[in-house]
Amino acid sequence: MTTDTSRCIGAGMCVLTVPEVFDQSEEDGTVVLLDETPPPELHAAVRRAERLCPSGAISVRDPDERDPDTS
Ligand code: SF4
Repeated sequence: MTTDTSRCIGAGMCVLTVPEVFDQSEEDGTVVLLDETPPPELHAAVRRAERLCPSGAISVRDPDERDPDTS
């Protein structure tokens, strides 16, 4: 999972949804990723946070989903 702080608008939905995984910077309010590989019991909540994020700054990928090799 990755977060793109350049897209984040600091809405804080992710922090409200999964405080175990997301935090917000005290400086500018952008997302801080606390756990890049959250445990399975948090996966559903993390996916919900991805959907709720208004700026599309959160990208979740299943471990078994691979980027197609486009090169
Ligand atoms: S929900 Fe999205 S826009 Fe809001 S703080 Fe989290 S990553 Fe940033």
